[in-house]
Amino acid sequence: MKKILLPLIALLFCILILFSGCQTLSSLNKSFTPQDSLAVHYLDVGQGDAILLVDKDDTMLIDGGNPENGPDIVNYLKRIGISQLDYVVATHNHNDHAGGLADVVANIDVSNLYVTHSEETTASQNIIKAANNKNVPISTPAPGTTLNFGGSAIVFLGPLSLHENVNDDSLVFKVTRGGNRFLFTGDMARAAEQELLSQNLDLEADVLKVGHHGSSTSTGYVFLRAVNPRYSVISCGAGNDYGHPHEETLSRLNDIGSTVFRTDLLGTVIATSRGDQLTFNKTGISPTQEYQVVDNGLVSMPNQETPETNSDPVSASFIGNRNSKVYHLPTCPSLPRESNRVYLNSFEEALEQGFTPCGVCKPPS
Ligand SMILES: [Zn+2]
Ligand SMILES: [Zn+2]
Repeated sequence: MKKILLPLIALLFCILILFSGCQTLSSLNKSFTPQDSLAVHYLDVGQGDAILLVDKDDTMLIDGGNPENGPDIVNYLKRIGISQLDYVVATHNHNDHAGGLADVVANIDVSNLYVTHSEETTASQNIIKAANNKNVPISTPAPGTTLNFGGSAIVFLGPLSLHENVNDDSLVFKVTRGGNRFLFTGDMARAAEQELLSQNLDLEADVLKVGHHGSSTSTGYVFLRAVNPRYSVISCGAGNDYGHPHEETLSRLNDIGSTVFRTDLLGTVIATSRGDQLTFNKTGISPTQEYQVVDNGLVSMPNQETPETNSDPVSASFIGNRNSKVYHLPTCPSLPRESNRVYLNSFEEALEQGFTPCGVCKPPS
């Protein structure tokens, strides 16, 4: 009896060690954020969107690019030690967003799949199939739905209705980490932007994922001014067939003084927020290059200094943008953000200071 019992105990002991070893490995795999922070990886997937969010042990993938990007995203996740995703979000059913997700769902453990109510496409059918094969729960978060995500909070804002344009059915949501806010918009166009504006929602964000790869049909002035992003990220492919990002969008972003990060120029861009400090791993295009390079090579948020005003805001005839050096009528729909304004008494003063007249409101010159 003793002869059998001893090897049995030894065997049980080995199994126990093996299991506790597995546990250590999986917790090691989970420590991909070096510090208490939210990391937002705007992945370079060419003409498409794929964004990875990591906060403490929580992970979310927003879109997966085109079908050919699927294996690359799976490799990227594995390389940085992610073997499981808490959330996969298909903002909408277009191939350049939903296309690569079937591969991700098939090859990574996914806890929740979020989709939008919209016209089906081959891409969306493939994700649903992959999710059903692995019993991944599929749902659509209603506007107002909130999630705790690591040290961040997520709130879903849209879509508020269904539209003819599939892009307008994009899931829109905001991620807040302390004082830093990120807005994700998919390919939302003007109609959905207007709906969000009409609800008086708090759209303000520090980092805007610019809608529809920088197309001029998204990111209208009023919407942009409500978001007022210090930083904007455009996910698009170099030399894409659509001409994204469009000049009009870039000009609007420039006008409000937003620093622009483009995946077609920079590749994958990673923003990291500790709640009180926001850093990027790449240098964006800033109208004034007002960012600071800190010692670890990261680019730090510009200090929000109180602007010196040249004149009284109330009696000023024109409002200049200190970054773009364009001056506007006070009634112009494309006025710069408060901190970038220079108040000018006359157009002579504006011209003297090197300002040029705005093409939208056409002030006297
Ligand atoms: Zn789309
Ligand atoms: Zn798209």
